[in-house]
Amino acid sequence: MSLKTLQDLLDEGVDGRHVLVRSDFNVPLNDAGEITDPGRITASLPTLKALLDGGAKVIVTAHLGRPKGEVNPRFSLAPVAEALSEALGQYVALAADVTGEDAHERANGLTEGEILLVENVRFDARETSKDEAERGAFADELAALAADNGAFVSDGFGVVHRAQASVYDVAKRLPAYAGALVGTEISELKKVAEAPEKPYVVVLGGSKVSDKLGVIEALSGKADKLIIGGGMCYTFLAAQGYNVQKSLLQEEMIDTCKDLLARHSDKLVLPVDLLAAAEFSADAENKVVALDSIPEGWLSPDIGPKSVEVFAEVLATAKTIFWNGPMGVFEIEAFSQGTAGVAQAIIDATAKNGAFSVVGGGDSAASVRVLGLDEEGFSHISTGGGASLEYLEGKELPGVAVLSA
Ligand code: ADP
Ligand code: MG
Repeated sequence: MSLKTLQDLLDEGVDGRHVLVRSDFNVPLNDAGEITDPGRITASLPTLKALLDGGAKVIVTAHLGRPKGEVNPRFSLAPVAEALSEALGQYVALAADVTGEDAHERANGLTEGEILLVENVRFDARETSKDEAERGAFADELAALAADNGAFVSDGFGVVHRAQASVYDVAKRLPAYAGALVGTEISELKKVAEAPEKPYVVVLGGSKVSDKLGVIEALSGKADKLIIGGGMCYTFLAAQGYNVQKSLLQEEMIDTCKDLLARHSDKLVLPVDLLAAAEFSADAENKVVALDSIPEGWLSPDIGPKSVEVFAEVLATAKTIFWNGPMGVFEIEAFSQGTAGVAQAIIDATAKNGAFSVVGGGDSAASVRVLGLDEEGFSHISTGGGASLEYLEGKELPGVAVLSA
């Protein structure tokens, strides 16, 4: 079983053919609806350019945010269409619907080398339905956009771990190929998943504690050290008996964390100090505190400077590093130092120790750019968080498996 690739499709020839592409344009937006980090748009360009250069009539599908199956202008792909037009140097039309009349008319009207983006696929509840028949009906409509002799290119690495209509079901309805981004991601992540050079250090943070506990379980067998910071660490600290006050906490996971601490105490590395703030806002009073000294009613939005030092020492010995999840609320400058410090320690380990370093996750990758760190300092920056984690855990990615011939 091997992946059918974009190159296979280009070799067959795409001139004049409709090619449906699933991209990952789930970019962060600020309150004004502006894109704060275009990394995922940039990462989609090689596949789109190759198809357009080959004379394909390109139709792109993507999602943005969580509109929960309803049309919601707040999650329109309009800002993406604009940014993509600029990045490609070519007009990208945006259909007013996903698989409706406007999308079909515009798709039919495309000429060679033109590109159309249809609206947010998650405006349609069938996209993420658990019911295969419902997803299938939506996938039929998506496939119909590519009409006769069409093809499907899966390039949204950030979503290939989901069996969703525009990712998975549609691939069963058209000749399907892995895009350039999916190809690169898999070949880079394979280096970490299959035979990571030791010591192998994993850094986990971010906000989705329950999502990531399974990862800790799976990676604790493979990694030599698991560093835990970000919104994840407070449930562990609570499990150790600390009062984390109003910090992010998943109470129902405390027992699971106790169990993980008991079984993997030699591998888990937790913060030794914290930043504490009176509230989650940029101008809130804040100070560095010991683990047991978060003032009453305060919360911790970042790890402290001693924690950064301890984490950096562990990272300095690593030959393979995988990092997912910011160490703090890096979106607010006052709470960004933990993330910046750990990211810099990974960059240093890459340069000085020859470590192979991978950053995975939408917000983690965005933090590198937003904090002004050197992207080139990492061996690979993955566009996928959940997808890269599931791949490293050894799980099959349905959106990739479906592309194997
Ligand atoms: P990724 O997208 O890289 O997989 P996540 O989505 O899991 O990462 O988590 C990113 C989010 O975690 C960021 O928006 C960040 O503000 C948040 N976060 C990090 N540390 C904390 C914290 N201490 N308290 C609350 N939120 C946090
Ligand atoms: Mg995220």
